[in-house]
Amino acid sequence: MFGLEALLCVLIQTSGRWNIFGWMYILKKFEIPKVINSLEHENLMLSVCMQCGTCSASCTSRQSFNLRKLILNLNLTGNDLSDSIWDCTTCLTCQTRCPRGIPLTEIIVDSRKEFVETGRIPSEIRDMLDSIYKHKNPFGEGKYKRKKFIEDIKKKFDVSDISEYYWFIGCVSSYESRSMEVVEKTARIFKDIGIDFSVDADEGCCGNEAMVLGEEGLFELLKEENEMFFKERGVEKVIASSPHCYNAFKKYYGLEVLTPVEVIYKAIKEGTLEFKYDVDARVTYHDPCYLGRYNGIYDAPREVIKSVYNVEFVEMQRIRENSYCCGGGSGNFLRESRANVQRVREALSTNADILVVSCPICLIMLEDAVKTLNSDLAVMDVVELVHLAMYGY
Ligand code: SF4
Ligand code: SF4
Repeated sequence: MFGLEALLCVLIQTSGRWNIFGWMYILKKFEIPKVINSLEHENLMLSVCMQCGTCSASCTSRQSFNLRKLILNLNLTGNDLSDSIWDCTTCLTCQTRCPRGIPLTEIIVDSRKEFVETGRIPSEIRDMLDSIYKHKNPFGEGKYKRKKFIEDIKKKFDVSDISEYYWFIGCVSSYESRSMEVVEKTARIFKDIGIDFSVDADEGCCGNEAMVLGEEGLFELLKEENEMFFKERGVEKVIASSPHCYNAFKKYYGLEVLTPVEVIYKAIKEGTLEFKYDVDARVTYHDPCYLGRYNGIYDAPREVIKSVYNVEFVEMQRIRENSYCCGGGSGNFLRESRANVQRVREALSTNADILVVSCPICLIMLEDAVKTLNSDLAVMDVVELVHLAMYGY
């Protein structure tokens, strides 16, 4: 009997993702409850690391730290993860690919929470969090800029106050000029295809970046304010311009939420959105981490691109759940990154004319990389490609 159990344990231990259940089985079976109690959940998860290096090899921030070595060090010494984890973009690649199913990104975010509590924060991250607290945006800019931008959109497109959908424009799309252009194009399309939406100049920050930077207290404060904001306006359904806001509303607020590309895809399928112009171009698509890996939205943007007349769609080498990050997540769009250049090189290897994204952060990161590489590759939000096919500009 014991032999059979031992064999079962060995099988469980060598079966990849189920390994953690193997450990639990062994510990329980051989009555070691004290051991179970003494082990923190995360430490138990980490202890099953087999040092394969999949996480570090695919890490967006591998120039800053070696995740495999950090895990080894943590297992051997019990010391904290290194301060270099502030460079982690929370792209979720390591967590998605770890053959042992270790929730690596969550462990990094949890470590950041401890760092925040003890004040171990790089100055630029501290400034960003201070700005989110004071100005409700990470850019250190006053609220008036967002207010004016949204009021202008409201006037220009005759947007009502009460609607089926509240369109949450978000920080990056309210303060970064390239993403602000996308908002204007989105508003025009929404109006023309009959989407009943409202916007409000008093919206704040969704809190996604505060959360993944480990500032849980700030996130809770923002969430409370936003929930009040939605309640006062009777908001039940949200469209979020940024996949980061989409992620926060869906995962932490439990709201019904859509992205603009999903709205557009639905309109194309229902025949309420029609293209008038050919876009004679070779187009590739970059999966944003918070749209793809976090929320599984891979097909809608691809289908929208492919439905544009004359577009020749080509895939990059790393796509969907294996897509490479733009380097901008978790506040890194305000810091140095090399991942964006790497990603644009991949796009260039497809000989595409246009690199399409569906995230305001990816848009600014990849456009910056195109400038760094002196390339003439056009970077567009998927909404801009649709706008081009609808209006010719
Ligand atoms: S991918 Fe998972 S098992 Fe492999 S080294 Fe990283 S943490 Fe360990
Ligand atoms: S989430 Fe991305 S950047 Fe962070 S450690 Fe994992 S692979 Fe690296």
